[in-house]
This record gives sequence, structure tokens and C-alpha cells, in this order.
Amino acid sequence: MSSGKIMKIITVCAFALAAVLLVLSLAGVFTPSANYRDFNYFAMDTYVTFRLSEEGKDGKLSDSYLKEVADKCAGILASIEYSISSHSEKGEVASLNSDVNVMVGASDTLLSVLNTSDRIAKLTGGAFDYTLGALTDLWNVSGGGPRPSAKDISYAMTHTGTDKFRIGEKTIQKTDKIAKVDLGAIGKGYATQAVLEYLSTTDVSYAVISLGGNIGIYGEKPDGKGYRIGLRDPDSADGIMGYFQITTGFVSVSGDYERYFEEDGVRYHHIIDPATGSPADSGLRSVAVLASNGPAADALSTALFVMGEEKAMEFYRSHVIDFEAVLVTSDGRVVTTDKIDGSVFELSNHNYKLSGSQAE
Ligand code: AMP
Ligand code: MG
Repeated sequence: MSSGKIMKIITVCAFALAAVLLVLSLAGVFTPSANYRDFNYFAMDTYVTFRLSEEGKDGKLSDSYLKEVADKCAGILASIEYSISSHSEKGEVASLNSDVNVMVGASDTLLSVLNTSDRIAKLTGGAFDYTLGALTDLWNVSGGGPRPSAKDISYAMTHTGTDKFRIGEKTIQKTDKIAKVDLGAIGKGYATQAVLEYLSTTDVSYAVISLGGNIGIYGEKPDGKGYRIGLRDPDSADGIMGYFQITTGFVSVSGDYERYFEEDGVRYHHIIDPATGSPADSGLRSVAVLASNGPAADALSTALFVMGEEKAMEFYRSHVIDFEAVLVTSDGRVVTTDKIDGSVFELSNHNYKLSGSQAE
């Protein structure tokens, strides 16, 4: 077997483990409460769980009704995937990323995700960059690499940047025909929010959904206690380093353990620093963001990972976007923002030390 193939298998296994673990840890650590039904799918290249309460707005909901709701949620994901995923060969992003000057008749979903992405790219000073397609294709982390040459990285970087795209009302213009978008850092957060919006039109009164590192909480649990959500230990395939207790909003996690390949003993992960064109080497292992907006939580977890601790905390203090975060550093510290007290995040693995708001 070629070494490329072995690496590919390692990458795929690491991804599968990370995703399964998230679902298991979610399923395993929720506070027992009223009855739920879990519906599991594989969509948007990840494992998805819809955990719907059986308690409806007017009494207990039937199994068949809940199944119907879950299938509609899965349908929403499939349609979003068609509009924004780079994995979908026949989708809209595939058309936009082909050798074209302009795309006409783009869907509202694609335009809305691109507009939000453009805003967040500007607000984060380019740490979140939805135009990295040429680079992420070159690194091919999910396919196991290999590490590209410095020359190829420099060349790909000349085809990235928000100046390469002009997003209009119905059209997307490209000033560089071969520039490509990659919406992988925001799409799942967008989809999580879209599913919650749909749930608000159903009889389901509360639910929690998990979509590959993104969690969305819908409605209010009758006990008012919220959900206990495990944060994965970046150094352990099945370990949890702490728990969030969350009643509302969205949580997104980005980490160097989610997708990566190894070459000559070096880990090359999937979060690219747009300034260097290579996997971000920012001193962070993972970032969890809590926010009231799904796409923002998702995009920010990626952006803060790229920024590193100091810039991420500066960005937090600038109040440009409202969010809270937990940063896990390579030297084993857990940095928390001001409103993350012991009731929101509890560190359970004492190989790590609290730093930031909780340590003060
Ligand atoms: P996430 O898991 O949300 O952090 O998203 C990571 C994915 O977003 C990667 O697999 C790439 O497809 C893409 N990506 C990588 N680096 C960046 C970046 N700096 N800004 C935006 N998207 C990125
Ligand atoms: Mg993200």
C-alpha cells in the first residue's frame, strides 16, 4: 500500500473518530430530562444528530411526527449542502469554482452565506477567509496531503483574497477566474441555525442538534437547566477535558485534531492561516465559541484559532461581534473570556490549567 494511501486512511479514521465521539459525548452527557428521540444522519460530510423532545407544544408528539420533522431537517441540510458545499460536485459552489468570470442566478442561500462570510472576513481582519479554495485544494488535508511545495503555496495564495469576488444581488463576479470559495468554516453553523429556524415552525417545543462540531439549542427545557456538552481533549481520541452547561444559542468548536495528516512526524491540520498559506501555527489546539448566531459561532471558532490567544482576546475585547470563547493552548492552558464562569464551563481534566476569567 502506498504511503499516500496509508496517510489518507489515518486522516479519514481520525475524522470519523472525532465525529463519532462528538455524537457519543453529546448523547452520553446530556442531563437526563423529559423524553427525547434521537435521529442520526450523515450530511454535509459529517455526523448529524437531531435530538427532539417528545413533549410538543400541545402534548406528547407521536413517533411518526418526530420522524417527519427530523427528515425535513435532513432535507434542509441536503439543500444547503447543494448550495454551499465544495464536496458536492454538481452543486453551486462547484459551478462558482469552475473557470468562470461571473455566476448568474445564484441561490439566496449561497448569496446569504457569501454576504455573511464577507462581513466576518472583514471584521476578523482576514483571519476568517472564505476565498481559500485554491489553498485548501492544494493542501488536500482530507485526502491525506501531501505537504505542498513553498512555490505551489505562494502560487495558490495569489488566487485567494476577498478582492477576487464581488457579491451582487443575484450575481457573483470573479475578478480572478480561477479563485475558489471554501465555505467549510461557516456552512455547518449556517445550517445549524437554518434547522433551528425550521423547528420553530413545528410543534416540537425544545431540541438540540449537533452537526460536526456545531451545536444549536432550540427552545427552552422545562427544568431550565440547559444541556451538558463535553469539550474534547485535543490529546485524546475519546477524552473529554471539560463540560459546558448551556441553555441557549450556538456552540462551535475548531481544533487541530479534527482533520489532519502527518508527514515526517509533523501534523498538518485543516485550519489555514491566510497570511502564510499553511496550517495555522498559532499556539492553540482548539477553540470553542458560544454565540447567539450560528454562522458567527462557526466562522469565529476558525478565525480565533488562526489569530492565536493574544489577538483573539484583543478581538473579544473590541466587542466587534458578541461572543464568548474557551481557548485551549498548546502549553496546556484553558483561556476563558469574561462571561465564562464555572457555571458555564467546568474543567474536568486537570492536565490542563485554567487561565483567563476563571483563573482570576
Ligand atoms: P472549521 O472546522 O469550522 O474550523 O472549518 C475549517 C474548514 O474551513 C477547513 O476544513 C477549510 O475547508 C476551511 N478553512 C480553513 N482555514 C480557513 C480560514 N482561515 N478561514 C475560513 N475557512 C477556512
Ligand atoms: Mg468554523
